[in-house]
Amino acid sequence: KHNFGAGPCILPQEVFGQAADAVKDFNGLSILEVSHRSADFVKVMEEAHELVKKALNVPVGYSVLFLQGGASLGFTISALNMMRENKKAGYINTGTWSSKAIKEAKSVGIDLNVIASSEDKGFTYIPKGFDIPSDLDYVHYTSNNTIYGTQFNGIFETSAPLVCDMSSDIFSKSVDVSKFDLIYAGAQKNLGPAGATLYIVKDDVLGKSTSPFMPSYLNLKGHAEKDSMMNTPPVFSVYASMLNLRHLIANGGVEAADIRNTAKGDLLYSEIDNNPLFFGPVAKEDRSNMNVTFLLNDGAPSQIFDKMWNEANIVGLKGHRSVGGYRASMYNALTIDSVQVLVDVMKEFTRKNG
Ligand code: PMP
Repeated sequence: KHNFGAGPCILPQEVFGQAADAVKDFNGLSILEVSHRSADFVKVMEEAHELVKKALNVPVGYSVLFLQGGASLGFTISALNMMRENKKAGYINTGTWSSKAIKEAKSVGIDLNVIASSEDKGFTYIPKGFDIPSDLDYVHYTSNNTIYGTQFNGIFETSAPLVCDMSSDIFSKSVDVSKFDLIYAGAQKNLGPAGATLYIVKDDVLGKSTSPFMPSYLNLKGHAEKDSMMNTPPVFSVYASMLNLRHLIANGGVEAADIRNTAKGDLLYSEIDNNPLFFGPVAKEDRSNMNVTFLLNDGAPSQIFDKMWNEANIVGLKGHRSVGGYRASMYNALTIDSVQVLVDVMKEFTRKNG
């Protein structure tokens, strides 16, 4: 099968194999039954932290955490931990996930300013050249919009502390972590199986919140002090994430992943642009290499196209239920051969129906 699903999604076959082995035998027990306080698992957690630091070149002065709750809890955790005297924050709205982050931040008392939005054109582009007020506690954005298929190309300048939801493009390319006060990401794209959520937080941020509401689990300071072991962590997800990070680093790290992801993106976007039956709704300069969205021209027989890609063993190509069309998610573990299978199906479809 060629899995173009948006997440949970494809991981390297070797990682599936090693994770399956550990379900049967992890130093004599199953990874599913091992105590998170055992020396063997403490070593796994430590290695997972270290590999994140190595893969992303995380500078000294940052903590890496594996928590639960998904990026959805990250919306709340980021707002609570970044809240300072002003209780003011700027958010960039590039679609569904940013909108949810905005809703959650407001609900915990952030005086929220949407400093830029691409809603006017159905979230098909990344806003640029916007002004950032000077009195913000922080600025929040979503680096890759999983549903609409837009992606920030670089980091914009701001003097305010920067917070980013990197759920759907972390580990796909290099990123200058020193520009951020807080990064969070659900594991289930380029990191590992669903269940863990990654936080990379500048240590200066910890313990500075002015929020009167701060349940222990939502306070990153407590988690950092306990090395992600304040309570039972998502043991299996952390273990498989560690395996996947080992695999990423052994295969050239994020720099090599970026080259592979760019080649995959170029291959599919070129077909979308040159094939008369398809078009891509996203502004070219803002196209995502992780989630490629495309549509069939009016009148082109979608049932025939759907039958053809299903018969080619492609899965997960339908667009998000809120936008329709097609979405090819091409995370790190998807090979260019799988992208070529999709491109061949598109060409064949147009040859027969164009
Ligand atoms: N942010 C982004 C960019 C996402 O793609 C997703 C999930 N696809 C989420 C947040 C929500 O993540 P979770 O399901 O882990 O809460």
